[in-house]
Amino acid sequence: MPGTNLTRLEAESRAAHLDVQSYDVMLDLTSDGPTFGSTSTVRFTSQDPSQPCWLDLIAEEVDSITLNGAPVDPGTAYHAGRVTLTGIAEQNEVTVVARCAYMSTGEGLHRFIDPVDKETYLYSQFEVPDARRVFAVFEQPDLKASFAFTVDAPEDWTVVSNTTAEVTPTATGASRWTFAPTQPISSYITAVCAGPYHVERSEYRGAHGTTPLALYCRRSLVEHLDADEIFDVTRRGFAFFEDLFDYPYPFGAYDQLFVPEFNAGAMENAACVTYRDEYLFRSRVTDAAYERRAETILHEMAHMWFGDLVTMTWWNDLWLNESFATWASVLAEAEATRWTEAWTTFASSEKLWALRQDQLPTTHPVSAEITDLEDVETNFDGITYAKGAAVLKQLVAWVGREEFFAGLRRYFARHAWGNTTLADLFAELEAESGRDLTAWEAEWLLTPGVNTLRPVLGVAENAGLEQYTSASIHQEAPPEHPTLRRHRVAIGLYDAGPDGLTRRDRIELDVAGERTEVPELVGQRVADLLLVNDDDLTFTKIRFDASSLGTLEKHIADLHDSLPRSLAWTGLTDMLRDAELSATRYVSLVLTGVGRESDLSVVQTLLAQGRVAVELFSNPETRDELRARWASGLARRVRQAEPGSDHQLALVRAWSAAATAPEDVAEISALLDGSVSMPGLVLDHDLRWHLLQRLVIKGRADDDAIEAELETDRTAAGERQAALARAARPQRAAKQAAWDAVMTPSALSNSEMEATLAGFMPAEQADVLATFVDAYFDQVLSVYEERTFHTAERIIEGLFPRVQVSPQVIDRARTLAEAASTPKAVRRMLLEGAADVERALRAQHRDASG
Ligand SMILES: [Zn+2]
Repeated sequence: MPGTNLTRLEAESRAAHLDVQSYDVMLDLTSDGPTFGSTSTVRFTSQDPSQPCWLDLIAEEVDSITLNGAPVDPGTAYHAGRVTLTGIAEQNEVTVVARCAYMSTGEGLHRFIDPVDKETYLYSQFEVPDARRVFAVFEQPDLKASFAFTVDAPEDWTVVSNTTAEVTPTATGASRWTFAPTQPISSYITAVCAGPYHVERSEYRGAHGTTPLALYCRRSLVEHLDADEIFDVTRRGFAFFEDLFDYPYPFGAYDQLFVPEFNAGAMENAACVTYRDEYLFRSRVTDAAYERRAETILHEMAHMWFGDLVTMTWWNDLWLNESFATWASVLAEAEATRWTEAWTTFASSEKLWALRQDQLPTTHPVSAEITDLEDVETNFDGITYAKGAAVLKQLVAWVGREEFFAGLRRYFARHAWGNTTLADLFAELEAESGRDLTAWEAEWLLTPGVNTLRPVLGVAENAGLEQYTSASIHQEAPPEHPTLRRHRVAIGLYDAGPDGLTRRDRIELDVAGERTEVPELVGQRVADLLLVNDDDLTFTKIRFDASSLGTLEKHIADLHDSLPRSLAWTGLTDMLRDAELSATRYVSLVLTGVGRESDLSVVQTLLAQGRVAVELFSNPETRDELRARWASGLARRVRQAEPGSDHQLALVRAWSAAATAPEDVAEISALLDGSVSMPGLVLDHDLRWHLLQRLVIKGRADDDAIEAELETDRTAAGERQAALARAARPQRAAKQAAWDAVMTPSALSNSEMEATLAGFMPAEQADVLATFVDAYFDQVLSVYEERTFHTAERIIEGLFPRVQVSPQVIDRARTLAEAASTPKAVRRMLLEGAADVERALRAQHRDASG
């Protein structure tokens, strides 16, 4: 990171005098590396040529620089990621010829060799500031320009970029791909992907004409490319968004590529979207995975309008970009695909993510101050994506759905191909709705922290019936973020009966200040369950009165509709995390409810949270007992699950991850070697690896077993699974080997790094892992100095000693975080790790006190 930052003020000053017209970018990808040739010609004008001017570039070498026909000495001009341009004129043309490095970290131009067939695949990933790793560029979103890429590549390769190309042979037997110039776009959404990619084609016929569609993947993944399903979601998305936004898809054709070793879920490059290729499912997954993939497809598609056509001026509106795409994707999923319960998933997963992030000491307002690139890199978080989306959902309710949509249409029409800020969107929403959004913005976007809504009820018996004699909602805020907000809230009254828990009444009201009376409740018969924030209208934590909590403990699965069930689960999980509900009680709740939970996303969230409750939040003195109860409870649910169902698969995975008793471990062994089988359960590659990894953790399978499994699965995915298994071995020497591999630059590929970190730290290996705590705090700063941002972040977060739940770890993390020499990004990661450990410690005390 050092020397390659860019501040908001620098970007503003550059944009104030520059106007960039076009780029011609020539890339020579015919060599195997370690570098490739890059020639970037940029045409731009300056209103004030006396102002500082520079191009951004991270190159191995700069061969030549030519400014307005005159050579510039690279030795003087190129330094620390910048090509300084002195003596510019009003109208300029600069050409920079360089050699840039192929990357193995998923940033810039990533290069990957498929272990199956040894074919080479390249793809670019430029957000936030990594186009400069591939060509010289003004790297900021508001200097939009037209980009024309020309790419030389081996002749059996396919090259994909933001536009369509003509292909001609070169004199040396390669192919030259000459892409049409783009419309004016930001550099971070340009893209170049190249390799012997397999392609499937289709089209979308809509109200505005026909859009060619294509899907790309590695040749070795062709059998897993379910093109029909992906094209179907894609077409539904196009129809939904073109209608909603009243603006035709702006980028011609639409290509979607599944690429290896991708850092995030996907990237919204204009007309050239990239996805992590784990989204092509090679083994059986539950419907939750298909739902998540559809959400991602729709998220990236929403960005084609919101983000790519109209783009934030600077990264302080990153939240708006991501929140909008998240909100729009769930809306499209719920209203245009088979996942009509998508808002249930949103309430159980995105909201939990947002709640966690918003209660960390490092939380920030949704609309955050972004002073430089380091700020933005650390802000791809639960506030930016999930809380922002929850708040936007609420804004839609606040201004009215039709008014919101009408404002959006005006926004796209007015700002197409331009850059905007939040104020530009609000101006359109205010014009349509007649509502002043200033106060709303101050409460929801400019102040961090989450409120808690707690029902306070008086109850008395009257003629043999229990009735409410008083009712109010108390609003709380944490002392560090004391803002109380105005919430639009629904309260649901549910009664237990022969048909389960059904809603008798629903009251909608505005909650404001510390205490809001609810006179409509007074005199009503006491409900078995009183659910605050029913229908999920606001972003808040909720609590239950004691009798409602009792009802949930017995009957949560009897709630008919998935949304209130999911809201109740999120509330209970939140109580666990706040040490208001013991891990022991929470585990019982999950075991009671999970078998009958119909929403697979909720099932998987619960199984994951149940495991956290056992391993990190339970009283260490009684943990073995709880582990045994969790495992045997899951084993019972496995036996009750319908053979071949998604439930069976999810439960088998959770049960085997929890298995500790000798007979359970023996059963896993027997399943793997085929001596026993389970009706309906197919032992495909990923399930086999999952079972084997459990045996490895328990010391019941060795290196030979891992190698033997890999022998049957020599794929990129198999190598990833094997790396995870090796890192999960319990011996000190095995841990040291994993540690050394992570700490040695270039020792691991991007996905081996991800897998090694995922396997390294099972909570039940806390004893052997304790010997790495000193090394962690000794090395964390040098990791940040020496590695690229994504790799450093992955290591610093992945190796944080979070399974050592002790005050000492909290102290050490905080001391290092507060040291003057600690970079702010590292400080943030350390404080978040410490907060997680502190939360676990409080939960353990809660569990110990019964
Ligand atoms: Zn996004």
